[in-house]
Parts: sequence; structure tokens; C-alpha cells
Amino acid sequence: MDYNKLAELLFPNVTDTCEDVERRYPPRDLPEGAKVTRFAPSPTGFIHLGGIYGSMIDERLAHLSDGVFYLRIEDTDAKREVPGAAVELIKTLAEYGMEFDEGAAIGEDGEICDKGNYGPYRQSERAHIYHVYAKKLVSEGKAYPVFTTKEELDQLNATDKKAEVKSKVWTEESASAQREEMLKQREFTLEEVEAHVAAGDPFVLRILSEGDGEKKTKVGDLVRGALELPENDEDFVLLKSDGIPTYHFAHAIDDHLMGTTHVIRGEEWLPSLPKHLQLFKYLGFKMPKYLHTAQIMKLDENGNKKKLSKRDMGLDMKDYKRGGYLPECVCEYIMTILNSNYDEWRMQNPEKSYKEFPFSFKKMSNSGALLDFAKLTDVSKNIISRLTAEEVYDKLLPWAEQYDPGFASVLAADKAKAIRILSIGRGGKKPRKDLATWADAKPYMALFYDEFFSVCDEYPENFDKECISGALKKFLETYDFSDDMNLWFEKVKKIADEMGFASDMKAYKASPESYKGNVADISSFIRVAVTGKRSSPDMYEVMQILGNDTVVSRINDAIAKLS
Ligand code: GLU
Repeated sequence: MDYNKLAELLFPNVTDTCEDVERRYPPRDLPEGAKVTRFAPSPTGFIHLGGIYGSMIDERLAHLSDGVFYLRIEDTDAKREVPGAAVELIKTLAEYGMEFDEGAAIGEDGEICDKGNYGPYRQSERAHIYHVYAKKLVSEGKAYPVFTTKEELDQLNATDKKAEVKSKVWTEESASAQREEMLKQREFTLEEVEAHVAAGDPFVLRILSEGDGEKKTKVGDLVRGALELPENDEDFVLLKSDGIPTYHFAHAIDDHLMGTTHVIRGEEWLPSLPKHLQLFKYLGFKMPKYLHTAQIMKLDENGNKKKLSKRDMGLDMKDYKRGGYLPECVCEYIMTILNSNYDEWRMQNPEKSYKEFPFSFKKMSNSGALLDFAKLTDVSKNIISRLTAEEVYDKLLPWAEQYDPGFASVLAADKAKAIRILSIGRGGKKPRKDLATWADAKPYMALFYDEFFSVCDEYPENFDKECISGALKKFLETYDFSDDMNLWFEKVKKIADEMGFASDMKAYKASPESYKGNVADISSFIRVAVTGKRSSPDMYEVMQILGNDTVVSRINDAIAKLS
């Protein structure tokens, strides 16, 4: 077979050579050991936790080595593409602090554009490049076309949307039958091809595999170590009938031209590795290093590990946004799953950014990371407790504007008041940890706003109504808004003494039976009446923010309710 002629018949419009293309993508000029990584999402929906997890590994490996981290949009599957998803992906990645050095970006007009010299960074714009390499493989007898008629194709598409011309899944059961079929397809003449081309028939381009499925080949994975996988013996598709490349073909060409040194991707691609080995070899490209990340798991009702599915909370980053999780908290949490020594480092370096942590893939585990919301909550509370009240306000308000407009308007109406509330217990060695998400803010702050305040009568048990209202009445008799904290507390203690409650906790502990209760009980009566809750931030500070009138009227209401 004259393969050059075959290549010319199939790709008459391709005039560039591979050398022409390579010249446009010179090797990158980077320091020794610099890693070039990419995040390569398909715009088929909103980004998932696994995507943030993977892109963080990419980002850390590149930036800790003075390398390059870029974004490539893998939009080769037009049928699965969701309009607007690519723009949304880019925005979400930015929210999560993924600073790309180059790649697809959003331009001033709001449309996607390319930033950097190794583009285009959207695969849909790279068809001409793939065809140059496809032509080369055909001319070397390493790839061949399988034609079909337009009618056959239409029929196929009608019966099975996913079906590409005779591109069936290579399963063990059907392997021998498929192999026979595949080998038959390798047999054709140039005349047949000429006739098809003249008729305008579409074709898919398949690789002519040289592997032996019975034999094993060794491939390395940075986390899993050396793997033994069967050689590729499948003539897998390189170009689909519309001329668009498959993932495999685009991966090899793009990562080669863009100079990727480390490919970090989901473990679902692990079985395809022999295909990629074959392709890189045929194309004469150096293989990048691979790191296949394990799926994120959750514990099911029976305590068994289970893959996080679409229906589970915590897969889709939209859930986190709606739930008011702070992106930096999610990133911090992901670091704790990525490297087991992270928690220890964090304890020693409470103020530093996670980006200062010496992240290493060598400390990654290859078993599925377990999504643990309790841990995420802990990590988030710590981070939010270290923000200033102003920072909290500036982040909370936009969230509330989107997800709780009623709350947002209250926050916006009196910023100074909101900041005062958020300042309670902030700063110092042991800051309060009330908020894990922005959704926690309204229940926490509600007591300060009449719009959201709700009366509650969950006073401590063991005390009758008269006793409680008696204490509240006494409190009102001497309450003076201008008292300082000490005087305020002295007055509460005095009420305790007068009512037969212990004002001194030591004395109370020594003989509790001698008292009706202690000063903490008196405080609780006041707290429930004023805040509607059994626990709240410091009562004195709360009252200072509420103001004299609100304090007095809430206590009067409580007394009325108790009588
Ligand atoms: N577009 C592929 C995916 O979303 C990317 C895999 C890779 O990073 O190579 O699964």
C-alpha cells in the first residue's frame, strides 16, 4: 500500500508538516526541575470536588517548582458540552485560587480567549493541528481509515447516540470477535478509499495497534509506583467521523506540544495508559509523568466506602457555594487529605497560606480520599475565626445577597452593627469559632435583629417561673446601659446573693446543697430572655450591641410571658 498516497487522499487540505507545527511550540525555557502541569476539564457541567482536588495538585507541583500551570479546555465532545460551562469553570477555578500562568481565560468582553504562547487552549480550535499528526501517522502506516456511508452514519447516530462508527467498547468477552472484525477493517485497497472519498463518505481514523494483549508493559505512576498493564492491542479511534480527535489523540498531541511534564488526572484514565504509551511511541513524543488521582469517596449508611455520586451533597462545587463554604476553607481541607503531614504543619504555622506548605506527591495516598464534612467544618471554623470582622462581612454579604436577600438587606442596612456583632470574641489566642459556613451566620446573628429574633422559653430546668421572673425583675431594677463589664457582672452576682444563689462558684462547688443554684443560672435566665437561646456570645457585649431599649423590652416581654 502506498501510505503517502493514502494520507494525501484522506487529508488533501493538510499542507503543514509536523516540523512546521513543532516550530510553533518550541521547548519551554524553564529552570531545571520545573514542572509544567495543566488542568484540562471538559465543559460538560459544573466543576466537581475531584476537579478542585486535581487542579490543586497541578497548581502546587507547578508553582513549587517555578514551573507553569495552564488551563486547557477539552471541548471535543460537542454533544455533551453544556453552553456556558467553560466560562463558569474558569470563574469557579479563580474563586478557588487557581492562578493559571497561561491557558483559556475570560477576556474583557466576557468571552473565552487565549492567554499564552502555547495555544490555542481550547481543543475545538486545534483541529488543524491534530490533522497534521493524523496525516503523518497514516503516511507511516500507523493509522488507517474505516469508512462508512453517510446513511449508515445517520442510522447509527439515530439508534445509538454515543455510537461512533463501529467504535465498540473493547471488553474481554467480545475481544476475539472484535479483534477479527478489527483485523478485517485493516484490509482495504486504495481504489476503495478513492471511491469513498469521491462519494464524500465519512471515515473514522484508527490507530494500527502493534501491541500484544497477552503481554504486559510497565508504566510508572507517581503515586501508585510501577504498574504492569496489558499492551494495547486495540485499534482505537484517533479521529471521529467529524474529524474531531478522541481524548487519547488530543491528549498525546496537546501535552507534547504544550510541554506538559506531569499529567495529573482521574484514575478512570488509568486503563487507557497503554493506549497512550502506544501513541506517544508512534508519534515519537517523550512520555510525561503520570499521577492518577483516586476517586473521592464517602461513607454510606453502613459505614462502607462508596464513590461520591452525582446525587450526593459535596460532589458539585455548586453545593459548596450555595452552602456558603469559603473556597479557601475547601482548599485547606483538600490539603489535609492530600498530605497526611499537613495538619501537623498547620499547627506549627497557623498564620501561613497553604501555599507555603512543602506539598509533595510522595506523601499522597493512592486509596480514595474520604469526604469528611465534620473535618471540613473544623477546618473552616478555624479559618473563619482568624479573619477580621471586616473580612467576614465582605465575604458574607455577597453570599447573602445571592442566597438570602432578606438577611443581606439587614446586613447592608447597618454595616457598623454587623461588624460589631462579628467582632465579638474575635482576635486573641482563642477566638470564637461560631461560623463554618456563611449559612451559619444568620442563625448566629439572628438574636441581634428584631426581624429574626425569636422568643424562647427554654430556661434551665429546676427553676420555677416565679424564680426566673423574679431574677429578671431584679435585673431590670438595677440595669444601667452605661455600666462597664465589671459593674454589670457585680450586679448579676448581687442578684444571685439576694436570691439565695451562690455568687462564688468555689463556694457553690463545696456545698451545692446550700444554694438554690449559682450565678451562672441567673446569667442563663437573662441570656434566654434577651437572646432567645441557651448559649450565646458574652452577654455584656451582646447587650451593648442590642442597646438599652431592646434589652429592657425583651426582658419585659419575657417577664410577661412567664406570669
Ligand atoms: N478532559 C479530561 C477529563 O475531564 C481530562 C483528563 C486529563 O486531565 O487528561 O476527564
